Amino acid sequence: MNFVLIMSVFAQALLVISQTPRNKMIDYVKNLESVEHSKILVKDPDELNKKLENFICGGYEHLSIISDYDQTITKQHVNGKSQLHAFGILQRCPSIPSEVYKIVSNITETYKPLDRNLSIPESQRKIFMNEWWTKTIEAYKGLKISSEEMVNTTLKYGPPARDNAKEFFDLLNKANVPVLLISAGVGEFLEPLLIKMNICSPNVELLTNYLKLDEDGKIVGYKASPIHTENKNILDFKNTKFYGKIGNRHNVIVMGDHLGDVAVLDNLDKVENVLKIGFFYGNNESSLPTWLNTYDIVLKDDQTMDVPIAILKLLK
Ligand SMILES: [Mg+2]
Repeated sequence: MNFVLIMSVFAQALLVISQTPRNKMIDYVKNLESVEHSKILVKDPDELNKKLENFICGGYEHLSIISDYDQTITKQHVNGKSQLHAFGILQRCPSIPSEVYKIVSNITETYKPLDRNLSIPESQRKIFMNEWWTKTIEAYKGLKISSEEMVNTTLKYGPPARDNAKEFFDLLNKANVPVLLISAGVGEFLEPLLIKMNICSPNVELLTNYLKLDEDGKIVGYKASPIHTENKNILDFKNTKFYGKIGNRHNVIVMGDHLGDVAVLDNLDKVENVLKIGFFYGNNESSLPTWLNTYDIVLKDDQTMDVPIAILKLLK
């Protein structure tokens, strides 16, 4: 073999090497970006792609889901009209006296602007949120509301589920993936909503506040320390069925509409891969960089469950 031929073969080999993609990983992020109507924002597409590949390798048998409820499972708005939180439905019960309605409205007006205000230190926001939940239940103390009234009010004022939420939960149910829904709302109103949405399958568990009633059926407080938007990091999961089901399910998808929703991860010691999906709506635009640092995927004013469904379908 002469020198010219050797150089020619060598040059061709170099050309083949240079044309071979260094990273043969499939671009899953592009797949998600193509979901119709989605407004997907991702800070680090390469990192997200690696995470998605880990989830795909693990499949459904290594997956679990932890999700916020209000405005994560439910729509944040319908045609621009904001929707009630589960706690807000209590205020709409017809037997609530007008003076209590006013007191609760004033409490809400005071504390709501503080909830997502990132200029307030987190430690101070925790104090404010605890005050909000405590003062609200204080206002309702002594009132008696029948279960029937609670259910009827929920059915009348309850927010609708995100578009295609049923398909999302059906996929998870079929694959027997454990789901923990965590809410700072009130279970007496959330449960009828879950039934109405038809997503009450055995793999779904709800962790939320419940009303404590006295022997006459009057509200005396919460059954346990209240769950609010800023204390999801201290929830005790150990007694949930969900915790028992995790086993070797080390891949968890966390979904929320509040920066505090990802704090649930502080309670889990078995997680290897975490994929965080945030539904961004009604927040100050200046908080978007913080959202992008917190959530792997930020869905801006997306009122569907289409991107989470697309992720589940990648795992098939
Ligand atoms: Mg929420």
